[in-house]
Amino acid sequence: MDITNPIYGDANRARKHLEALHWPNGPVCPHCGNVDQDRITKLKGKSTRPGVYKCNECTKPFTVTVGTIFEDSKIPLNKWLLAFRLLNGGKKGISANELSRHLGITYKSAWFMAHRIREAMKDEGDVPIGGYGKTIEADETYVGGKVSNRHKAKRTGKGYGIHVKQPVVSLVEREGRVRSFHVANVNAKTLRHVLVTNADRGSWLMTDENSVYKTVGKEYVGHGVVRHGLGEYGRASYFHTNTVENFFSILKRGINGVYFHVSEAHLKRYVTEFDFRYNTRDLTDTERTAEAVKGARGKRLMYRQPSPLVA
Ligand SMILES: [Zn+2]
Repeated sequence: MDITNPIYGDANRARKHLEALHWPNGPVCPHCGNVDQDRITKLKGKSTRPGVYKCNECTKPFTVTVGTIFEDSKIPLNKWLLAFRLLNGGKKGISANELSRHLGITYKSAWFMAHRIREAMKDEGDVPIGGYGKTIEADETYVGGKVSNRHKAKRTGKGYGIHVKQPVVSLVEREGRVRSFHVANVNAKTLRHVLVTNADRGSWLMTDENSVYKTVGKEYVGHGVVRHGLGEYGRASYFHTNTVENFFSILKRGINGVYFHVSEAHLKRYVTEFDFRYNTRDLTDTERTAEAVKGARGKRLMYRQPSPLVA
């Protein structure tokens, strides 16, 4: 792993790295969108902190962190980049506990950083996956707390919340991308909404025999149904849902192994992380980290206070 890279040890080098990723063609004013390099001045002088620019169109100063998840953070930028790198290494992610040890910060800060990083991993593309000639496998699974945890929480009286397994629906385009959703319940109405807003109806849909897919399946060019109960795994080689099932096995290993106290409220963020990792599976860890860091701009969190009770 390349953690000896100075961008992880030096805040100034980290900022330059961020500038190179976010401004490949030079600084961009986040206030007015000015990109004219002749109308942007780098501020110098002893009283100025490094990395401050002034826009000569709107006269406002700015740095590369304005409008990103790093804005207003007290954690040095090099630690942020290291956190991105750690979260993007390997297949399973890293717990807030481990993150706090590696970065030398509190558990609470590490937990909050990790969620901001997951926000940066979010795929905000409006374009549905699939399309003509493409196959989408859809399936649902249940992840989260184990029954034994619930008993323990009950016995010790600790407020871990209620760990009931939560439904996650994933749509995977074969040879393509995945999109996963934590849904309130698995029924035809919920799944139709997830499907038609995320999977192009020009696709072939492939599901198991669960009746919730029956009606929406008719809206697709074709709907293949794999009947597991009848031992029809892999009927003709095209009729299977192995791709989405493989994704679920990675998701479950990760959630149950690394993030065992995932709360219902934050499950969607963990799911985002696993989607991102799957969708960048052909990249190296370093390339994947750079992709995530690029996503740090324009993301907003919908909550402010970190909760210390979940990991
Ligand atoms: Zn400006």
